[in-house]
Amino acid sequence: MDAVEREAYIGLGANLGDREAALREAVRLLDAAEGVRVLRVSPVYETDPVGYTDQPEFLNMAVAVGTTLSPEGLLALCLGIERRMGRVRTIRWGPRPIDLDLLAYDGVRMETERLTLPHPRLAERAFALVPLRDVWPEGRAFPWTDAPALREPDGVRLWKSREDFWVIK
Ligand code: ATP
Ligand code: MG
Ligand code: MG
Repeated sequence: MDAVEREAYIGLGANLGDREAALREAVRLLDAAEGVRVLRVSPVYETDPVGYTDQPEFLNMAVAVGTTLSPEGLLALCLGIERRMGRVRTIRWGPRPIDLDLLAYDGVRMETERLTLPHPRLAERAFALVPLRDVWPEGRAFPWTDAPALREPDGVRLWKSREDFWVIK
């Protein structure tokens, strides 16, 4: 019997090199992975860096995927794609060619050393919440509607519409 498919949400960010090409490649690799299909993609936003601010602007977006992987399996896939795309971890929150964070996985709440769901800093990040809201399923209440970061999403600018970025087959 096939494993049950569940819906999960991945936030992508890039601020080094060809940022758009990196997002595109990461979405392609997610969709090509066994047990994952991309259901919806958000528009692409250009965002001011937060945390460590002395670095280039980011492109950020989110995707909704249908997956038969476990939360840990999906995280491992994300980290594998980052590695494959040449990410080396140096300064925390520093510049990177690609970051793939698991923002939420179905309604799962968990906290282990390697994985916290929903993503622990999601509620304070407009650059993650704005695209997440774009791919959230219609008819399912968005849990972060009242997050202050969403009320005034400063530093998050629409950069490319979803139609111009990605066509879902
Ligand atoms: P931030 O997590 O604040 O966005 P970051 O994305 O730069 O920072 P990373 O270096 O990509 O941080 O990830 C560090 C570790 O965070 C990962 O190795 C992973 O084990 C852990 N982690 C915990 N929860 C999550 C999650 N929901 N999504 C992605 N990584 C997570
Ligand atoms: Mg991150
Ligand atoms: Mg990360």
